Amino acid sequence: MKRIAIVGGGISGCFAAIRIKEKHNDYIVDIFEHNDKLLKKIYATGNGKCNFANSEAINNQYNDKFANEIVSSFNYEEIIKYFKSIGVESKNINSLIYPYSESAETVAYFLNKRIKELNINIHLSIEVKDYQNGQLLTDRGTFKYDSLIISVGGKSSPKLGSNGVFWDVLLKHGYEIKKESPSLCPIKTKENTHLVDGLRHKVDVCLYQGKKLIHEESGELLFKKDGLSGMVIFNMSHYINCLDNKKDVTLHIDFAKGKSGDYESLLNPKLAKYLLDNKLDIHNTIFTFKDFYGFDNSQVTSGGVILSNLNKDLSSKKENNIYFIGEVINIDAICGGYNIMWAFSSAEKVAESI
Ligand SMILES: Cc1cc2nc3c(=O)[nH]c(=O)nc-3n(C[C@H](O)[C@H](O)[C@H](O)COP(=O)(O)OP(=O)(O)OC[C@H]3O[C@@H](n4cnc5c(N)ncnc54)[C@H](O)[C@@H]3O)c2cc1C
Repeated sequence: MKRIAIVGGGISGCFAAIRIKEKHNDYIVDIFEHNDKLLKKIYATGNGKCNFANSEAINNQYNDKFANEIVSSFNYEEIIKYFKSIGVESKNINSLIYPYSESAETVAYFLNKRIKELNINIHLSIEVKDYQNGQLLTDRGTFKYDSLIISVGGKSSPKLGSNGVFWDVLLKHGYEIKKESPSLCPIKTKENTHLVDGLRHKVDVCLYQGKKLIHEESGELLFKKDGLSGMVIFNMSHYINCLDNKKDVTLHIDFAKGKSGDYESLLNPKLAKYLLDNKLDIHNTIFTFKDFYGFDNSQVTSGGVILSNLNKDLSSKKENNIYFIGEVINIDAICGGYNIMWAFSSAEKVAESI
């Protein structure tokens, strides 16, 4: 009989627990979570609707191609099929996969139900402080394990539980960690935007570093008082994080692609006035990247345990019987369900190999 401890009862940790028990009913599986409930973050995902997968072919959505392999081995069709088997019907809205109810609560409800049915042990409001020699050290005593799965997440949205404190424990254990940076978040610009704060507009955005085009995409832009937001900007924050340095990064915005006419006839009057007063080109307004918004405003963390510390099955190369899943690994993606897909597929990979 094997005892598995899972540190972090978020999306990847809960899914791993379920899949391990489904494959090995004789294993004892314990989830340790410092929140007072499991899956606290899932309720906030996809604006409460939980966009849990994406049907687009996997290409350059992740910061590292290694993720493509893992995600393809437990792909969106398998995720949909699995969730149907436990009671969650899904729907595809322009390639974004949601529960049919369009409510994250449905996904949380069926995952929690499965956890109960499988007799997985849940330890809530317990802080895991460290581990050594098959013992988990917590603020409520020690617990024995044969294998340990680390699913503590990143540092984004810490009020939902993922505060990154455990990353220091991992550093102490000798893991190399790529420095954290907020991703899928608004960005601050050098240019002043407070006069158009709150305005939204459909745009085409090209991201440049110097003269090099890094990425282009269309979508809705939302002005903030000191920068830019909206899903298209969230995705740009991912591609900015993928750059080796953040020097000379600009966003070139076309507010009316292919259209000609007065600014007032094409744009919100306040936005037209802002562009005209600042002598900005409606087809090529340039904003200069200054910084990201902080972790409180970011959905995922760029950075984490670097892949060269791990084997292909996500076990540690440094310590026996230790596995990593989810956002604690240096893998992150653009918006669209890819981050939860990584959480599920990395958990599935470990459930297969443990
Ligand atoms: C507002 C918001 C919206 C999002 N929307 C989407 C979306 O629609 N689609 C998508 O794909 N992705 C989305 N994401 C990203 C996605 O939620 C994450 O990538 C995913 O939750 C990562 O899963 P994880 O298990 O690695 O980490 P988490 O789900 O963050 O779980 C980590 C868990 O570990 C616990 N923990 C940490 N340290 C300890 C410790 N020392 N002891 C005990 N417990 C500990 C935490 O409390 C937490 O419960 C969103 C994120 C946010 C914040």
